[in-house]
Amino acid sequence: MKKILLTVGAAALLSLTAFASEVKPHDEKHWDYSHNGPAHWDEFSKTCVAGNAQSPINIVPGKSVSMNHQYDLHMSEDVHTTAKVIDNGHSIKVTPKVGGSIELNGEKFNLLQFHFHGKSEHTVDGKRYDMVAHLVHQNPITKQLAVVAVFFEEGKNNPMLDNIIGGIGKNIRIDPQDILPKDTAHYYHYIGSLTTPPCSENVQWYLLKTPSFASKDQIEAFRKYYVDNERPVQELHDRTIESN
Ligand SMILES: [Zn+2]
Repeated sequence: MKKILLTVGAAALLSLTAFASEVKPHDEKHWDYSHNGPAHWDEFSKTCVAGNAQSPINIVPGKSVSMNHQYDLHMSEDVHTTAKVIDNGHSIKVTPKVGGSIELNGEKFNLLQFHFHGKSEHTVDGKRYDMVAHLVHQNPITKQLAVVAVFFEEGKNNPMLDNIIGGIGKNIRIDPQDILPKDTAHYYHYIGSLTTPPCSENVQWYLLKTPSFASKDQIEAFRKYYVDNERPVQELHDRTIESN
């Protein structure tokens, strides 16, 4: 009898818990990559559908023009810092306490956070890379955003990724530079948008041509969290892609 009561008690507790999660205050609709996926994102921000400078895009190297050197990318990400790693429901996001920075057009943009997509969002001649990291920077004065995309290909193990995957929900020590390939002097540059709602435009995009590496196990470990968190490629319209 005691056992039956306990079982009933446990069932009641379970259903209460389920109920509590159904009526939590954040009951409004959330965007995602399935039922409320990219085709429905106009319900969250009109810009996602009405914008004409959206990201990601397919890069066609043969149609790119040479770089306006005023906008050359200068990276200074070599900073030893602590960082908070979270699973924010869309991606694994790393927020350094003190980020590095980049400089373009004489303006400094500070690293706010970086996060990962299970496959690359931008494609190059239709090729989708195994994974991508987006390093999101902001000009503290104008608030403009600049994102550096680091593609990942399957290859040797990247110790920093182990640190991040094992550090979800914790603070870890990182140097954002450890995620970059050796060659950061060659990239594609264009003006696009955030690839998630609110899809805000006027974002400076730099896509590093040289990929970093992650082992098969690391890619699989990451994809246990997110495998299809990439937005389909958007129309280029009248934009030009610069190449360096
Ligand atoms: Zn992203």
